Amino acid sequence: MNDYLAPALNDNPQAILRDVFGYERFRGPQQAITRHVIEGGDALVLMPTGGGKSLCYQIPAIARQRAGRGVTLVISPLIALMHDQVGALRELGVAAAFLNSTLDWQQADEIERRLLAGQLTLLYAAPERVGTPRFLGLLDTLHAHGQLSLFAIDEAHCVSQWGHDFRPEYRQLTVLHERWPDVPRIALTATADAITRADIVERLQLQNARPFISSFDRPNIRYAIVEKKDATRQLLQFIGRQHAGEAGIVYCQSRRRVEELATTLCAHGLHALPYHAGLDADVRQRHQDCFLREDDVVMVATIAFGMGIDKPDVRFVAHVDMPKNIEGYYQETGRAGRDGALADAWMAYGLQDVVNQRRMIDESVAEEDFKQIMRGKLDALLALAESTGCRRERLLAYFGEDMAAASAAANMPDGQSARLRYRPGFCGQCDNCLHPPEVWDATDAARKLLSAVFRVQQASGISFGAGHIMDIVRGKHTDKVAQYGHQRLSTFGAGADYSEAQLRSVLRQLIALGAIQVDARAFNTLKLLESARPILKGEQPLYLRAADAPAREKRERRGKQGNARRPLPPVAADLDAAAQQRFAALKAWRADTARAQELPAYVIFHDATLAAIAARAPQTLADLQGISGIGAAKLDKYGADVLHVCAGINAAG
Ligand code: ADP
Ligand code: ZN
Repeated sequence: MNDYLAPALNDNPQAILRDVFGYERFRGPQQAITRHVIEGGDALVLMPTGGGKSLCYQIPAIARQRAGRGVTLVISPLIALMHDQVGALRELGVAAAFLNSTLDWQQADEIERRLLAGQLTLLYAAPERVGTPRFLGLLDTLHAHGQLSLFAIDEAHCVSQWGHDFRPEYRQLTVLHERWPDVPRIALTATADAITRADIVERLQLQNARPFISSFDRPNIRYAIVEKKDATRQLLQFIGRQHAGEAGIVYCQSRRRVEELATTLCAHGLHALPYHAGLDADVRQRHQDCFLREDDVVMVATIAFGMGIDKPDVRFVAHVDMPKNIEGYYQETGRAGRDGALADAWMAYGLQDVVNQRRMIDESVAEEDFKQIMRGKLDALLALAESTGCRRERLLAYFGEDMAAASAAANMPDGQSARLRYRPGFCGQCDNCLHPPEVWDATDAARKLLSAVFRVQQASGISFGAGHIMDIVRGKHTDKVAQYGHQRLSTFGAGADYSEAQLRSVLRQLIALGAIQVDARAFNTLKLLESARPILKGEQPLYLRAADAPAREKRERRGKQGNARRPLPPVAADLDAAAQQRFAALKAWRADTARAQELPAYVIFHDATLAAIAARAPQTLADLQGISGIGAAKLDKYGADVLHVCAGINAAG
């Protein structure tokens, strides 16, 4: 494939954005970043998933190559995705290639030849390759000829053990800077917590890089966290009501659960596929390809799936088990709605999740201070799940952001920021904002539970599990109660008017608050912690989310819904009947074209681009100009076909 050069192209980043990528405007800080890097500065880019990180190094790569500076090396951890990333660049007429273990030696040889001949603008490689003597030798040669332009380190959080995808190979990337200190570097990540950020800077020696930190808000994602009752049934309902026939990801904690759930979803008529590290590599690859290429696949997966998946039209991400921390949750949910259209992040969680996650930390072999950090991160996620306030506000606060400020700097796709102005504590696009939950005063119930935990320990000298404690508080005469004589405790039956669901919810939240510890090494028994004291003494009131939505709350919900803002429309909602026909025909054409080139459909054109073409009813190539997503190379390559498809519909209609 030849590097496509439009006739009148100058090298300012704006012109490259328009002519190569077909986009009118930069998003958020993209322009500042590209300028800084084109001029040879180092950069650390923190941007949420879908924010548009790739352009931040691709545009400098193109500009610097044109200025005679040679090739940009992109380090990316997932070789499975390099093929599509490079395919997308080639579609844009940019000379790109990858070197990884999927190539045979002849193919690798050919790429090396083109590399040394100065024919590549971007070269993608996995981090483990960078350490090999052969590869270092290649880079030396390029550098000696002034043809090593830029290092782009994607998914930079992989260098940190505090991040959630630690890859030891990333540690050796310091060689780039040590061996060729005059070559600029840009490191990019969607992970934003302060510990990981500091670790990236230190590990990659980026102390002198200019940081570019975007708002982490994803205004088009709607967050909802529900109490887990029957997760499978709840999930089926959620998908059936809101996302039938759409692409989504369902995250589970274990491989077994992935298999089970994928089978159940299929039995309910969904196009679901399993994905976890226990499957053969070729099965995983096949399922991933299918997910990327088709537009109705629900991927049921462990967290092994997803990093670097840049499918733009994932309409929902569901968690049926709770993740480990907010970073993980946010990165996983961030895979929804990269195209900027409305998408859902949905999670079901319950007491068992809390217990499991605590146990995994307690039983891990890590050092105590590491465990302490992990517990703190888990607590923050629990607090999010239990929160009765705006979820988005909490999420952003976790990343050190103030929601009102975020809305002012909203960096999401064109035109949407204006529609999504937040008022303090209210985003209008999360479950708690859309349907404010009922709150009840749980101080009394919490004191009774805590005092029961305390008294049984005092009376019997051993600890007991959640079930027994709740039985005591509710005054149930079980065998165990009789065995230990716990009916004689003053707390026995003290909370007889609370339902089991209510007490369970209070317990969960007490664990979340760190007032009670679940001891995994002793049959999940409960122990009081220091923060129980003020609650027990009645010095700290506790207002909690209502466990079971009582009838009153349901009525209230219906009333509130009338005021909720209308969700963003799907891409093709505004099209008239004739345009809908063109849109359908264009999608069919795109599917054939993508299949013929073994590329995902979105690499040819996004849905939004097809919708814009359909709306315009183009007759000539000039009519296609200026549509977002149609750059010079694509106009040249596909313009005639697109006109032909549209003409076919016009003739028929
Ligand atoms: P990230 O790597 O940050 O998750 P990507 O680089 O994959 O995000 O970009 C997400 C999507 O947004 C891509 O489909 C990309 O083509 C699109 N995009 C990026 N920048 C712009 C822009 N300035 N205008 C329009 N679309 C953009
Ligand atoms: Zn909200």
